[in-house]
Amino acid sequence: MSLKKDFLALTGQHPVLEPVFRKAVQAAPVMGHPLPYSEFRYPLSGNRYLLVGDAAGVVNPLTGEGVGNALHTGLLAAGHIAECSSAGDYRADRNKLYDRLVKKRISGGLTLGKRMQKLASHEKTVNLLFHVAASFPSLKRWMKGMIRRL
Ligand SMILES: Cc1cc2nc3c(=O)[nH]c(=O)nc-3n(C[C@H](O)[C@H](O)[C@H](O)COP(=O)(O)OP(=O)(O)OC[C@H]3O[C@@H](n4cnc5c(N)ncnc54)[C@H](O)[C@@H]3O)c2cc1C
Repeated sequence: MSLKKDFLALTGQHPVLEPVFRKAVQAAPVMGHPLPYSEFRYPLSGNRYLLVGDAAGVVNPLTGEGVGNALHTGLLAAGHIAECSSAGDYRADRNKLYDRLVKKRISGGLTLGKRMQKLASHEKTVNLLFHVAASFPSLKRWMKGMIRRL
């Protein structure tokens, strides 16, 4: 699958998207970048440093959203730095508290996102889910809202 080719094909040919993009002028080449999702496989801190945001790999694997978690880890890091400053101690051992705090506050949402991403890769499961949802108006509304937010 080529995302670049599909993007151009969809915006150029899809019955809904084509009219939206008909008068658009491409101002730059289509570019992308892998989203950093680390599953906490490496430490988030060490001697006198803390990782936040993309450096910490806290992008949601399902939605690709990383701004919220970047801000969240930034806030947690600021709080931790304030405590280190009071204690005059910035060593790796103390900074492990930051790793634990980030995992406690953020890993739940990332794990759920990862599970949903795996589920979404099974075509038959997704088709069944949508088929079932179509029979329940409230579930249908909820799923439509969720997709719109993506
Ligand atoms: C195409 C794309 C679309 C995305 N869409 C969304 C979205 O819709 N919603 C969402 O929530 N997230 C989205 N994301 C993810 C989101 O952009 C990132 O997760 C988020 O910006 C991470 O914030 P950050 O502060 O960790 O890193 P960044 O925003 O990358 O900030 C890092 C900054 O450090 C600077 N920098 C790098 N090296 C140095 C250096 N040596 N010295 C000084 N400065 C340096 C960089 O120039 C940059 O300004 C998207 C990402 C991509 C690539």
